[in-house]
This record gives sequence, structure tokens and C-alpha cells, in this order.
Amino acid sequence: MKSKKELSFDNLLDEVIHKDLCNRCGGCVSFCSANNLGALKMGKDGFPDYTDKDKCLECGICYLICPKTRILEEELKRHYDWKYPLGHWVDIFSARSTDKEVLNVATDGGVVTSILIYLLENKVIDGAIVSKRMGPLGRKPIIAKTRSDLIDAAGSSFFETKHLDELGNIYSTSFPIIKVIKESASDSMKKLAIVGTACQIEAIRKMQLLNIVPSNLIIFTIGLFCMQCFTIEDLSKKNFAKTHKININDIEKVNIKDNLILKMKSNIRFYIPLEEIEEIARPACLACNDFSNEFADISVGGVGSQDGYTTVMIRTSIGKQVYAEALYQNYVENSQSSSYDSRKVNEKHLLNIIKDFAVRKKIRSEKRIDSMNK
Ligand SMILES: Cc1cc2nc3c(=O)[nH]c(=O)nc-3n(C[C@H](O)[C@H](O)[C@H](O)COP(=O)(O)OP(=O)(O)OC[C@H]3O[C@@H](n4cnc5c(N)ncnc54)[C@H](O)[C@@H]3O)c2cc1C
Ligand code: SF4
Ligand code: SF4
Ligand code: SF4
Repeated sequence: MKSKKELSFDNLLDEVIHKDLCNRCGGCVSFCSANNLGALKMGKDGFPDYTDKDKCLECGICYLICPKTRILEEELKRHYDWKYPLGHWVDIFSARSTDKEVLNVATDGGVVTSILIYLLENKVIDGAIVSKRMGPLGRKPIIAKTRSDLIDAAGSSFFETKHLDELGNIYSTSFPIIKVIKESASDSMKKLAIVGTACQIEAIRKMQLLNIVPSNLIIFTIGLFCMQCFTIEDLSKKNFAKTHKININDIEKVNIKDNLILKMKSNIRFYIPLEEIEEIARPACLACNDFSNEFADISVGGVGSQDGYTTVMIRTSIGKQVYAEALYQNYVENSQSSSYDSRKVNEKHLLNIIKDFAVRKKIRSEKRIDSMNK
């Protein structure tokens, strides 16, 4: 294997992009050390490419932070006390927001939005990188600075968003950036939270391991469970929508739990087995092996919990501290303190379901990678 010093974007092209493993997170382009020289760009097809190869400094940063390379995996696992198959965790339960406005727009129990509101209102963070809804199916990454920004961003999108790109655009990334961050003091953005899928959180964690500016601004990470992501074009084009006679313009809300759940404007719900949407998953997702967002401070999903609740996994000491304070200040409530049937949905039940998804995803990833190497 090459040493860290000998790596460049050529290695990403060979090992990730040309092998269909790139999830188009935009991390390599946003955080390229030669960003201001114009070495890389996101191409028209949505995949990263050289703008000008001669501008590349061959520093290897793009390769090291890419969530699809394995070079920092052992270091990351050691750092986060990782264990098979869910990573490190300290507590698992069902919970929901106490805020009716949040509950009305949330995907599940609105725990994500309410924790972020708690963090903002208590000035623990200056902003949160989330995805703002643009219609029922569209999303745009933003830095939310207010409660209403966060409520605008609640709910889930299973289509691609580029959070890392947002971080890069706002703070830029190459060496002179430290200066830019200082100048941006007027923006008061010194402490940020981020919500992301496992691939997005992993890229941030790799940057943090390497002390790459501005990942130091991210002080809290909320990781979404994730089986796969797909594009809206594929949802409409493939047989899938035709077989189920679904007009995507009539979809009001999308959710993923044990199934893909499409709530139509007419109030009808379609429950589509996740195996069926593998057909339209991005190729990179089929090779991805992290369901439960193993390196986040708190991971969340819908599986296992009753409707209107979020399944919460507390992982790190900061995750534990933040959640305890949000609970104490009544931003969220645990299932035991409501009319919830906590006899059925206890830690063992949730753990078994999450483990089942996590193991299935790891097996799928191994098969996919094996078949690519044949
Ligand atoms: C691509 C994707 C796949 C998922 N797959 C599963 C799954 O297989 N099983 C499961 O149990 N749960 C899955 N989830 C998580 C689930 O849909 C809910 O997001 C989670 O339960 C939190 O619910 P909540 O009501 O607490 O969040 P809310 O309070 O509604 O907040 C959701 C937050 O997620 C952010 N967000 C929305 N879409 C994206 C995106 N594409 N990328 C990054 N951030 C985003 C929003 O900006 C918002 O801040 C997935 C989520 C996404 C985005
Ligand atoms: S300058 Fe560094 S980060 Fe940018 S493309 Fe070259 S190797 Fe990658
Ligand atoms: S997965 Fe992200 S970091 Fe890796 S090559 Fe693709 S866009 Fe770049
Ligand atoms: S399955 Fe989810 S976490 Fe994995 S690459 Fe796809 S979007 Fe990212």
C-alpha cells in the first residue's frame, strides 16, 4: 500500500470514482488543498474530476478524507472504540420532540430538530448544517441559524444532498482558510452541528482526525441510519414507480423504516420492501457497510419505534451530555414518559432490529465488493 505521502486524486479516480464507489458527497472537491488554485471540480455528471491536474499538490488529503477509502479506517475505529456490528454505543431508546410544530413536520419523532433547537437556544452552537426542504422531494443544504430555519429543514430526504460541499463553500478549505474563518467572525459561526448520513459523518470524522480546517468547527454530529439513497430521476423512471402505479408528483411525504413508506397527497400509503428499492439505490450505497452511523455522537432512525417516535442511539460522552440536557430542559421526551407501549419497544427490541439491518448491510457490501473484484 502507498504511504499517505504518495497519494493523490489519481488514487481516488482509480479506487473509488472509476469503480462506481463514489457517493458524490463532494468532500474531496470542497476540502482539496489546492481549492483556491482550481485543481478539482464536481463534473456535470455529479462526480468529482480534475479541473487542472497540474494544479494538484499531490498532498493526498482528498484520498484520506474520502468516506469510501479504507486507509484511516483502523485509526478511526480505535479512536471511537468501535465494536462489530454497531460501533460504540451507550444507550438505545425511543423518544420524541415535545414541540407540536416540530412533530407536525418531522420524519419520525422530531428528535433531531428538537436537539438542534436546544443546542441553538442554549448557544451551545451558532448554527447547524442541515438540508432545507424545497418541495416534498427536493433538498438544499443550509446552515440553520434559527429555530424556524431548523423547522424548515425537518423531515427526511432520501435523495442526494451535498452537506460537505456547503461546509467547504462557506468556509473554503485550503490553508488561507484560517484567515477566512477569522474574518467570518462577523458571521459568528464558530461552533456548528451537522446532520448527515454515515458517509457524510465519516468524511467529517476523518477530517477531524487529520485536523483539517474547518472540521474543527463541527462540535456535534447527528447521524441518520441509512440503508441506501437514490435519485428522484430513478424513482420516476424505473419500473418500480410503474409497477406500483405511483405518480411521484403526488407524493407528500417519504420515510424509511422497515419499508420505504410513501404517503400520497390522497392520504394513501405505499409500503415498499427495501429489497425492491435496491434496484434504484446508488451503486456506492450497495457497497456501503454502515447502517447505524457508527461514528456519530448520536445516531437516529425510524426502525423499531412506533409511528411518531425516533429511535435514538447515544454513542459518545458529548452525545450523552447533550441528550441529557435536552431531556432535562424538556425539548424531548423518552418513550417511558408518554403513552407509548414501552413493554414492547425496549432496548433489547430496538437493538435486535438495528443489529439485523446493520449486519444485512455489511453482508450486502461484502458481496458487492467481492463481485466488483472478480
Ligand atoms: C438518506 C436517508 C436514509 C435513511 N434511511 C433510514 C433507514 O433505512 N432506516 C431508518 O430507520 N431511518 C432512516 N433514515 C432516518 C429517518 O428517515 C429520520 O431522518 C430519522 O429517524 C430522524 O427522524 P426525526 O423525526 O428525529 O428527524 P427530523 O426532526 O425530521 O430531522 C431530520 C433531519 O435530517 C436532515 N436531513 C434530511 N434529509 C437529509 C439527507 N438526505 N442528508 C442529510 N441530512 C438530511 C434534515 O435537514 C433534518 O435536520 C434515513 C434518512 C435519510 C436522510
Ligand atoms: S491537491 Fe491534494 S487534495 Fe487536491 S486533488 Fe491534489 S491530492 Fe487531492
Ligand atoms: S465519495 Fe466523496 S470524497 Fe470520495 S470521491 Fe466521491 S465525492 Fe470525493
Ligand atoms: S447507504 Fe447511506 S451512508 Fe451509505 S453511501 Fe449511501 S447514502 Fe451514504
